Amino acid sequence: ASRDDNDLSRLVLLGDLRRAIVSGELTLHYQPKVSTGTGALSSVECLVRWQHPTLGLLQPDEFIPLAENTAIIHALTTEVLRLALSQARKWADAGRSIPVAVNISARSLLDPTFPAQVQELLDAHGVAPYLLNLELTETAVMADRDLAPAVLKALDSMGVSLSIDDFGTGYSSMSYLKTLPVKELKIDRSFVMGMADDPDSAVIVRSAVDLGHNLGMTVVAEGVQDGITRSDLTDMGCDLVQGYQICRPIPAKELELWIETYLVTNSSPPPIVHSHEKVPRNGQAEEMPGTG
Ligand code: C2E
Ligand code: CA
Ligand code: CA
Repeated sequence: ASRDDNDLSRLVLLGDLRRAIVSGELTLHYQPKVSTGTGALSSVECLVRWQHPTLGLLQPDEFIPLAENTAIIHALTTEVLRLALSQARKWADAGRSIPVAVNISARSLLDPTFPAQVQELLDAHGVAPYLLNLELTETAVMADRDLAPAVLKALDSMGVSLSIDDFGTGYSSMSYLKTLPVKELKIDRSFVMGMADDPDSAVIVRSAVDLGHNLGMTVVAEGVQDGITRSDLTDMGCDLVQGYQICRPIPAKELELWIETYLVTNSSPPPIVHSHEKVPRNGQAEEMPGTG
């Protein structure tokens, strides 16, 4: 926090970040999203880390908000997409199709050239679009109702899937939300982590699950830290879970080991299509590939 308070060190850090992006100091950790009931792996969320030469491993909260205030966020997003897609490619080459989920900042949603950039990266890595999922926060999606829908529609028509992240922390207009080509709703971890002790949080989670299903979306609960919360989410019909109870965010090599160990105890059944599912929102199959 003291680093953040100091304007000069912020400037230094931003300069460092600019250099870090080109010199390959950013790395990704991966955290699985699994089926609540069966435990089948659905995809992995890519979470950026910065291996700083003197400050050590920095967490995203220490530099993402800073980057988001400047145009540097564009270079950072491109680098994270590049890392995620090259990893997806490696897994596909090894016979394992694991969809990767990448966090996208509000600024990308306001950039009409963003879909073309994503297409270029998909082509460059030879990765099928259905293996890429983009997570956009509820606040980002709601921020600009003129520009954001066009960018979202372009991404959707390319075959990339879209998720609303941190759901419940912003102010959504339901009538606007239902016009967007979004497949997945991620309930913010603050409500999920509070479920066990706070009845209000539990009510919010239950309502979000129902709302997502009524809009034909897959619902994910993030921040699942214990077995009781997971079984409550199963009872509520929540489709996917993500959190420390399942696996912490870890480097690719560790994730591969985790999958091997995990698959011994969890079979990989067919993908979930929940009974609330309405007509697919863009005419495409709702299918999510398993782990192959
Ligand atoms: P997020 O997208 O909501 O990511 C989930 C965060 O929750 C991750 O923190 C993850 O480590 C943490 N988490 C997962 N399960 C649990 C749990 O059971 N308990 C608790 N207490 N926490 C859990 P992380 O990796 O520090 O990322 C923080 C935020 O930084 C992310 O929140 C996302 O908003 C942002 N971020 C991360 N990577 C990127 C990126 O590449 N681009 C952009 N624009 N933002 C990123
Ligand atoms: Ca996210
Ligand atoms: Ca989130």
